[in-house]
Amino acid sequence: MRVMAQMTMVMNLDKCIGCHTCSVTCKQAWTNRSGMEYVWFNNVETRPGIGYPRTYEDQDRWKGGWQLTRRGRLKLRAGGRLTKLASIFSNPVLPEISDYYEPWTYDYDTLISAPQGEHTPVARPMSLLTGDNMAITWSANWDDNLGGAGETMQQDPILATMSKRVEAEFSQSFMFYLPRICEHCLNPSCVASCPSGAMYKREEDGIVLVDQDQCRGWRMCVTGCPYKKVYFNHKTGKAEKCTLCYPRLEVGQPTVCSETCVGRLRYIGLVLYDADKVLEAATVRDEKDLLDAQRAVFLDPHDPEVVAAARRDGIAEDWIEAAQNSPCWDLISRYEIALPLHPEYRTLPMVWYVPPLSPVVDVVTDSGNDGEDAPTLFHAIDKLRIPVEYLAGLFSAGDTAPVVQSLQRLAAMRAHMRNVNLGLEQDPLIAESVGMD
Ligand code: SF4
Ligand code: SF4
Repeated sequence: MRVMAQMTMVMNLDKCIGCHTCSVTCKQAWTNRSGMEYVWFNNVETRPGIGYPRTYEDQDRWKGGWQLTRRGRLKLRAGGRLTKLASIFSNPVLPEISDYYEPWTYDYDTLISAPQGEHTPVARPMSLLTGDNMAITWSANWDDNLGGAGETMQQDPILATMSKRVEAEFSQSFMFYLPRICEHCLNPSCVASCPSGAMYKREEDGIVLVDQDQCRGWRMCVTGCPYKKVYFNHKTGKAEKCTLCYPRLEVGQPTVCSETCVGRLRYIGLVLYDADKVLEAATVRDEKDLLDAQRAVFLDPHDPEVVAAARRDGIAEDWIEAAQNSPCWDLISRYEIALPLHPEYRTLPMVWYVPPLSPVVDVVTDSGNDGEDAPTLFHAIDKLRIPVEYLAGLFSAGDTAPVVQSLQRLAAMRAHMRNVNLGLEQDPLIAESVGMD
């Protein structure tokens, strides 16, 4: 066991209202300058939807992340460094500015002085080609307005696997919000892609950064990141990315996005992990085993053996204490309700998500608390408004079991807390597990 510390974030998707406050405050703090107009280190995308930059999950198109070779070794999807250096001037796999969005300057004077017109401004609809040459027509706000229905939904690569159900239940469209920052991965393909050695992962807390003096603007990191969370500054000619607000963390403040989040849904904290298990977890052959392997990398910060090993490996006493006081390990490993975004990219992302506990569509309980009654939800998983298959495509490489488990636990906790608040009888097993017996 080789113990290391990592800053981690867990976001509870049930609480995100899509207000974009996190994106705006992050932009004001970090990318409000020339060359970075199009950049959102933090973005909030509507799901189902095509994301930011558009279709970033289509790895056949963008060639990001890692691939497992037949011999069980990891290989960068876009090829080795030399191959990529050779093709540097014709790198075909970089998103274009239109894949991000068209930046504009918001002129408040015009807002006040412009004459009233009949039409509301609408961004131009665009036709996009996916990796398998399917055409998608898309424009601003369409993901929100469609609510997962219609053309975008039919042609989403993940949703395609469940299109029959989508057609049958067109009237029961669904949507939720997915806030995203850089994942500060344990096995970052951006770092592995960089020919200049400018991208690096800080040893003390795992934050992934770009050394601006070393960066030569090759942009291999943009290609290599499967989450498309490295951006090119057109003014400086250097790569930039989310820094997890390290200057704030170093003085004991939370990240800007966490501090300003209206829904209070971002839990940020230190976790301890076993560095010897990272490669093993990234090279698990069967995708169904990926989630368990990625969870197994985390170490219980309360385990005396882990604490002793952490001290041996030079982790400071107050950092061990911080890991013990953080809710992140509990949410990820103790209760197993948080899930990683696209574990199949094999970068071991360090932003995990509590999936949204959607209401049950058909079943209404005697109490009228639709979807809040644990036994009802246990027996109505196939009737959730957000299909578990869709969530599994995002968070567990298509395996529905971990999503179902997470939602059932959330429902049990919600029912339990309702009983506590109403002074009703508590489920003894749940009460015991949360220390309320
Ligand atoms: Fe690198 Fe962040 Fe992309 Fe992970 S999500 S590969 S750390 S830029
Ligand atoms: Fe969601 Fe919080 Fe961002 Fe608002 S500020 S969009 S609630 S993550």
